[in-house]
This record gives sequence, C-alpha cells and structure tokens, in this order.
Amino acid sequence: MLRIRKLRFAYSQTQFQINIAKLDIAGGETLALIGPSGSGKTTLLNLLAGILKPDSGTIFMGEQCISAMHSAQARRYRLQQVGMVFQGFELLPYLSVLDNILLTARLLGGFAINEELRHRADKLAMSLGIADKLRRPVNELSQGERQRVAICRALLLQPPIILADEPTGNLDPRNKHLALEKIIDETKANNSALLTVTHDHSLLGQFDRVVDLDDFICAEES
Ligand code: ADP
Ligand code: MG
Repeated sequence: MLRIRKLRFAYSQTQFQINIAKLDIAGGETLALIGPSGSGKTTLLNLLAGILKPDSGTIFMGEQCISAMHSAQARRYRLQQVGMVFQGFELLPYLSVLDNILLTARLLGGFAINEELRHRADKLAMSLGIADKLRRPVNELSQGERQRVAICRALLLQPPIILADEPTGNLDPRNKHLALEKIIDETKANNSALLTVTHDHSLLGQFDRVVDLDDFICAEES
C-alpha cells in the first residue's frame, strides 16, 4: 500500500537528515515507529501525509506518487485518504467534540454529513469513552479526552492510511490499550495501513511490526 524508495529529506540549515532506502507497509498491516526524540518520527509522518516534500526519492500510495503531488493535490490526498492523529491534536478548540470529529468530512466538501456518518461518529466516540462529551466544546476537555477526539476524527472516514503520532501518550493504562485496540481493529477491518509513533514499550506487542527509525536508517545505509 505504502512504498518508500530512496527517501531523503533535510530541513534547511540543520544537520538532521532522514534517509530511508526502502520501507513498505501493506494494507491491513500495523506498524509501530519507535526511536529517540529528534530521530525524525514526526518528520516521516509528515512526509507520508504529503505535508513535507522529500528532497529526493519517492513515496507511493498504491499507484499515486505522493512525493510528486502539487500542494492542492496533496491536500486532497490528505483529506480523502489519510487519517492523521497529530502530536498536538490540531483540534478546533471552540467547536464541539462532534464538529471536530466531523471536520474532515466538512473540509472535503460535497461529502454528505448524513445520519449514517453521524451515527458512525457517535459509535466511535462511544468506543473511546467520550460519548457523553459530544456537545461540549473541545477547550473544556482534558488532554486525554482531546486525544481521543483526535483519534475519532482520524478514523471517521475509514481512510486507507492512518498516521498516528503518539496517539495514546495522554491516556491512562486502561484507556491507552482500549484506544490502540480500536485503532488497530479499524485498520484491520478497512484493510488500511497503520503507522503509529509510540514511546510506550508496553504497547509494542499489539503491532504486527516494530520499526526503530535509528536502527532502520543505519541498517539501510550500511
Ligand atoms: P521526533 O518526532 O522523532 O522527535 P522530529 O521529526 O520532530 O523528531 O524532528 C527531527 C529533527 O528535525 C529534530 O532535530 C528537530 O529539531 C528537527 N526539526 C523538526 N521540525 C523542524 C522544522 N520545522 N525546521 C527545522 N528543523 C526541524
Ligand atoms: Mg515527534
């Protein structure tokens, strides 16, 4: 589903470089991305989401070359095909939980926010334990509750790619296992590709594969 080849990326005027010779993620595959702080985990997710453009190399999602997209194409790709849970959530604080969950569908335009979609939003909120908060503005929620809103939003449209940046970092042990289980269930049910950044080693057993960005990049270079 996702194919990375000879990917190189650097921010201007920094030493940091991402250099990945080859990485594939299949449909239905769940992958944990680990590595020390500053190793480029968030940068890699942004490259896969088409938010950043590589200096060289290619990223394919099926037949589409993400790394060659113009910014408008990349935006559309992101809205239609990528469910993203950002490290800082990126929710709209004055909108309700429900409106935040429905945001991607609204931004897509032409996407009918019908009863079925509302029902799906309700069900997701219920499975993540925030169903009683649907009408509340997000700025009245705790960090852990906001994180779960971000997860619901990412999963709503059953995207073929789910990119999650430490999506359970603000949750207590019980909720973090439940939330990850839900993300993985959705991934499997929709045959999506899941890439999750995590620092939490107690969660690694739930993934099909673990990639350490540090080891991986060194191994590919040698
Ligand atoms: P991680 O998510 O693994 O902690 P990041 O991908 O956020 O790492 O960052 C990788 C490196 O790139 C770090 O050295 C960081 O300081 C640098 N970096 C991140 N974002 C930017 C940016 N917008 N401009 C310049 N350097 C950046
Ligand atoms: Mg990060």
